[in-house]
Amino acid sequence: MPLPSAFPHPADWQAASLPNTGHLEVPVADKPIILTVDDDPEVLQAVARDVRRGFGEHFRIMRADSGARALEILRKLKLSGDQVALMLVDQRMPGLTGTEFLVEAITLFPEAKKSLLTAYADTDAAIAAINEIRLDHYLVKPWDPPEQRLYPVLDDLLDDWTATHPPEFHGIRIIGHRWSQESHVARDFLARNQVPYRWIDLTTDPDAPGLLALAGVTDDRCPVLVFPDGQVLVQPTTQEIASVAGIRGHAEVPLYDLIIVGAGPAGLAAAVYGASEGLSTLLVEREAAGGQAGQSTRIENYLGFPAGLSGEDLSRRATTQAKRFGAELLLAHSVEGIKHREGGIGVTLGDGTTLLAHSVIVATGVSYRRLDVPGADALTSRGVYYGAAASEASSVRGEHIHIVGAANSAGQAALHLSTVAKRVTMLVRGDGLSASMSHYLAERIMATPNIDLRYSATVSAVSGAEHLESITIRDAQSGSETTEPATALFVFIGASPHTEWLNGQVACDAKGFILTGAEVISGGGGNAWRLDRDPLLMETNVPGVFAAGDVRLGSAKRVATAVGEGAAAVMTVWQYRASMGL
Ligand SMILES: Cc1cc2nc3c(=O)[nH]c(=O)nc-3n(C[C@H](O)[C@H](O)[C@H](O)COP(=O)(O)OP(=O)(O)OC[C@H]3O[C@@H](n4cnc5c(N)ncnc54)[C@H](O)[C@@H]3O)c2cc1C
Repeated sequence: MPLPSAFPHPADWQAASLPNTGHLEVPVADKPIILTVDDDPEVLQAVARDVRRGFGEHFRIMRADSGARALEILRKLKLSGDQVALMLVDQRMPGLTGTEFLVEAITLFPEAKKSLLTAYADTDAAIAAINEIRLDHYLVKPWDPPEQRLYPVLDDLLDDWTATHPPEFHGIRIIGHRWSQESHVARDFLARNQVPYRWIDLTTDPDAPGLLALAGVTDDRCPVLVFPDGQVLVQPTTQEIASVAGIRGHAEVPLYDLIIVGAGPAGLAAAVYGASEGLSTLLVEREAAGGQAGQSTRIENYLGFPAGLSGEDLSRRATTQAKRFGAELLLAHSVEGIKHREGGIGVTLGDGTTLLAHSVIVATGVSYRRLDVPGADALTSRGVYYGAAASEASSVRGEHIHIVGAANSAGQAALHLSTVAKRVTMLVRGDGLSASMSHYLAERIMATPNIDLRYSATVSAVSGAEHLESITIRDAQSGSETTEPATALFVFIGASPHTEWLNGQVACDAKGFILTGAEVISGGGGNAWRLDRDPLLMETNVPGVFAAGDVRLGSAKRVATAVGEGAAAVMTVWQYRASMGL
């Protein structure tokens, strides 16, 4: 059977445009469905066989032996996001007749083509159905030979259907409220793990109520995640999402040469160099590979990419590279402690599992400092966002949004959001951008017409009932305050290190940055180092435990330096192994 001209070849579906997804790569959609329904098993088998022979290359053929069973199938297909192109239904069936079934079926798939299989005696019913349910066609049994009596009719109907139905997104769908913190977390988590999803906003998407009803969930229990196989998760944790989406991974062996904590650029580089140099390597990450860099919309100062590359791209490439060399990845697992144990260093995960390693590299980076003003905690993810410019971009289309901060991260977010928002106001504490932002970025911001810069401006309060409604801005020079309407405030105001989980086991400075190398002796106090030799270059006060990237005191807080430190830390791991005779 020729492929109807308007029907895209499956190989092209990857490139289909997809609004409201967290990621550009679209999973190949399943074939649209032709559902055949007949209570006579022989007829059902024959019709399904003939339809499959004619159309099986481009459509999935499904069978049901009663109207009730067919409705059950349709409900599941609706929930799993499948498309039904055609229903070919026997008129005379016990229970629901073909027409009665179609009356119900069109509430689920109103655009599917409908054809009745009738005997001569049923033609009156078929003609009535043409008016009642806008039946597209009726076929009188038998249909032999199908090349003459079945295929031309179905070809016509399917051609018509495919002309107006581009392939649907066939991935995870998240149904939730724009202003729900839990919905934001689920979307951000999937986006950062590069899992495509379709966002279905309860307040604006007409599909939302129907989908919730099919899932049997009320709208006060969102977010609801519907997976392509029809599995439904209600208000899930990120760990649950990770398990069902198949992104968690598991540790293959109890003892590793090297465990790396944190999969930002430093951890990913350490994994690539560790695994490629022959160390059995495990990388543990509590959220998503990429770390802060994964949130960067365009990194322009990374060696070898003159046009820049997105953080998402960098992390995807690095993850693939680490895996190709044999590094294992555990995602959505946090490390909650490290301790010396017999036979190695014990690394304890959030679920209580302890793994052993000869060496550990801590590359847990930093995260944005919280906005310490009245209202900010309650409105987090309800209009106040920390570094989430990429995943929230589609929600702020056409709005006037605010950004606090003046470093490169704030600048990148402003440029990125200015392409969707009506207006972007940057609130800058100082009197210019030059002290904190790269020159090229500052110039681009100043040349972007819908970005305003407000200097000497700090946020002193945020407020709103369900979500952010206004922000109070203080002028640092005059001390005067103005309260202005606002819907989204993106916060980029410096960072604090992720070292609280170390529980004092590893020496840090007063702000929590890890001391390494010579700093261990000079800054760690008298008891910090007890061996005869000096600490190695990136070694902490705990022999065999190293630190790399932003979490390390004195690091440069750049992607390239984090990558360099990750690679260098692996080299010192080798020195440590040699000193221990490993
Ligand atoms: C929006 C943005 C834009 C930026 N743009 C640029 C740029 O253009 N150029 C540039 O050079 N730099 C840029 N930076 C800075 C750069 O991204 C960082 O310097 C770099 O990511 C630091 O890498 P890292 O691996 O040390 O730490 P991070 O990237 O912070 O990664 C640390 C990882 O450790 C994980 N982790 C933390 N605690 C635990 C735990 N207990 N268990 C398991 N995992 C844990 C975190 O989830 C995180 O994934 C940008 C930063 C941001 C936020």
